[in-house]
Amino acid sequence: MATADDDGRGVKTEQETRVQELELEIARLSEENAALKRSSSQTQNGDNHKKKRPRGEELPVAKGTSNGSNGGSSCYQKWTPADTNSTTTTTTNGNQTHKSSLTPNQIERYSRQLLLQEGFGVEGQRKLLASSVLVVGAGGIGSTVLLYLAASGIGRISVLDFDAVERSNLHRQIIHKEQNVGMNKAVSACQAIQNLNPSITCRPLTIMLTHDNALEIIQDHDAIVDASDNPKTRYLVNDACVLAGKPLISGSAIGTEGQLSVYNWKNGPCYRCLYPKPSITAGAKSCSDNGVLGPVPGLIGVLQSLEVLKVLTDTGNSMNERMLMYDSLQCSFMTLKKPKKQSTACPVCSGENATIKSMADSAQDLQAARGPASCDMYTPAPLEPEYQISCTDYHDLQQQRQQQQQHVLLDVRVKEQYDLCALNDRAINIPLASLEENMERVAKLSEGWTKPVYCYCRRGVLSVEATKLLNDYVTKQNDPSNKPTIKNIKGGLEAWRKQVDKSFPNY
Ligand SMILES: [Zn+2]
Repeated sequence: MATADDDGRGVKTEQETRVQELELEIARLSEENAALKRSSSQTQNGDNHKKKRPRGEELPVAKGTSNGSNGGSSCYQKWTPADTNSTTTTTTNGNQTHKSSLTPNQIERYSRQLLLQEGFGVEGQRKLLASSVLVVGAGGIGSTVLLYLAASGIGRISVLDFDAVERSNLHRQIIHKEQNVGMNKAVSACQAIQNLNPSITCRPLTIMLTHDNALEIIQDHDAIVDASDNPKTRYLVNDACVLAGKPLISGSAIGTEGQLSVYNWKNGPCYRCLYPKPSITAGAKSCSDNGVLGPVPGLIGVLQSLEVLKVLTDTGNSMNERMLMYDSLQCSFMTLKKPKKQSTACPVCSGENATIKSMADSAQDLQAARGPASCDMYTPAPLEPEYQISCTDYHDLQQQRQQQQQHVLLDVRVKEQYDLCALNDRAINIPLASLEENMERVAKLSEGWTKPVYCYCRRGVLSVEATKLLNDYVTKQNDPSNKPTIKNIKGGLEAWRKQVDKSFPNY
């Protein structure tokens, strides 16, 4: 396998020189360590690094509620000076601090980075070791961001995720292992990180990021990586980064495409400069509902980790003025120039003109933005009990109706999900997005609304909308005295699996 040493003859000579220098450096530092070992007490093992960071011990966990329903600021424990010192060990020669200030272990581990001519080297590595990065989300994007940041020697990494590892995550969330299914993702990710690089500090935050705790947590880090999968968190993280003055390295991946950018860095625009408000349909785009090709978030995460290294070491041209659009099916990378900061229009980073000046303002703004900020968080407007049926009641009804009266079972998920699995063979797929143009078809299937219609989806969210649409349509069309039965199956397939059939596929 080719290594940097094998590339280019001119470069090789310079690199060889550096290698020789580093080898001499390692030998000299080893000598120093041996001398220190001899002069120190028996309990000192001469390796500051290992002494300060015993491994294999229980991970420090910033505890929150496991279901993420509450993540108050009191849950967060700030980094301490001891955390910083543990990765920025100073090597001394008599009374003089050596310029590299790297241990032999660090020189060996990071030697290929140290050999880089531009931006990195000893200075760059020291900056990385002294840095702290918060990664929000240990999913598909977070998996590769975290592994590369850890391998590169970011001194302190906080992994924030309140979710548990599911089997359906493993095709893309490669930081997690089969045996960790059911474990908190932040804890699982930190385990993998410690196995990869035990010389850095990694800390799981098993809490949900909220408007109450985001600012405190973000203020305590040098750079923030948004590897979340929902718009609500995207706005929350952006607003906290602007208020805390922290660079935000943001990535997203849906289906076969991905995006990458750096916000709020060197007077560049923030996320809201480009997207001032969450769009009403934003919640529909979550990878858990729309599917994603495994390597796509992985690649975006790798690129994000590079942007983090560039921001922390102030090297190269970061993506603060541009946005990368990646299309995996075409293998195309398109770079768009971002608009300049909208000095008067941005609701959060426009100084005096900003309408969001605190996290409370941010919370209020998101509350006011109508629509599903996230599929998981979206609560549809309540449906009257007469338009609802529980999974168990529908199950009972189904048994009877097989003998007696037929009904229409409407699956309003997208076709891709319907193809995966359906409640039964009679389920007819009409996705919510095309329901309105298919009203006549439903009328025909229900024989002029004389047969009952039951709607379902994955979690009983879209089906509520479908039930409303159908009832509204029929009310307009029909004689009000002749009211048909159109109901939502509460909780959808997830509730079905819990309440009726535990063997029903989970996706
Ligand atoms: Zn802005």
